[in-house]
Amino acid sequence: MLPVDAALADLLKEPERKPRLLVVDDQPTNIQVLYRVFADDYQVFMATSGTQALQTARQESPDVILLDVMMPDLDGYEVCRQLKQDSATRDIPVLFVTAHHEAQEETRGLDAGAVDFITKPINPAVVRARVRTHLTLKRQTDLLKRLVFIDALTHVFNRRYFDERLSDEWGRAQRTGKPLSLILIDVDFFKQYNDVHGHQRGDEALRQVAHALTATALRPGDVVCRYGGEEFACLLPDTDLDGAWQVAQRMKLAVRELAIAHPASTVAEVLTISAGLAVRTPSSREDAAALLALADAQLYRAKAEGRARACHAVLG
Ligand code: GH3
Ligand code: MG
Ligand code: MG
Repeated sequence: MLPVDAALADLLKEPERKPRLLVVDDQPTNIQVLYRVFADDYQVFMATSGTQALQTARQESPDVILLDVMMPDLDGYEVCRQLKQDSATRDIPVLFVTAHHEAQEETRGLDAGAVDFITKPINPAVVRARVRTHLTLKRQTDLLKRLVFIDALTHVFNRRYFDERLSDEWGRAQRTGKPLSLILIDVDFFKQYNDVHGHQRGDEALRQVAHALTATALRPGDVVCRYGGEEFACLLPDTDLDGAWQVAQRMKLAVRELAIAHPASTVAEVLTISAGLAVRTPSSREDAAALLALADAQLYRAKAEGRARACHAVLG
């Protein structure tokens, strides 16, 4: 993972590339007209049939789709319905471009999941403005969706993100047969830290801990989340016990090296963490709760055996 704030900035920044637009029409002359309208400001992809449109939408992940209604193989309504059924293409705004003017046709398009309706012959300025509007709305929605997964205090991923990723990674590990590791981390005697230094200093310490933990999870697929309160969770896909143990040890050291004075702690003079580690190559019938329960039990053991340490178990 990138350092916390770099990762956050990365997540929230506007893409530097040109927006991607897919134009679908069975008449090449219509495509040419729209191509000329958008070619300067957009990367334009073209499809001349419904089937091709679905394929290109999946492959190229366009930001917006301009979709003709009347096409010989799959008509626009059917293409739109199929786009909305596929999680990879569901969120791409679809604008119908059609020669029909009847309200009934328009309703049918909107029912199929389109966001807007443009009539042929097109007016370039109007089409451009409408596409720009839907692009802006899409970007704002995407941004909000990403923010929903960020913890406001520490800027690492939050519990909601963790729950989704755990379930995704568990499913992936079931398919690939690769081990999945989970580390649960809890700050030692943190209530006393707050009691002595106050909540604001407590918050600052949590930010520093989150930062230190994130810096130790090095692979792109690794993820550190704030699990709640002063607890964090780290998911390490395709990582066996040796690998995860190394990460847990690095985390322990990284937090100690922050050298945050904690006079009320009975295990060290500085802030420390306890960690519970579990590794599992899941079989098809289990669910991820087993991994979580095991890591939690190991965290409990690390606390009971004196804190400032990691304990581990390998499931079955
Ligand atoms: P242990 O070593 O057994 O983990 O003891 P502990 O005091 O860390 O654990 P306990 O669960 O008793 O208390 C956790 C404390 O963490 C309670 C609360 O004061 C503090 N805490 C939780 N969330 C936050 C937060 O967002 N900010 C601050 N400053 N403190 C928090
Ligand atoms: Mg706790
Ligand atoms: Mg604690």
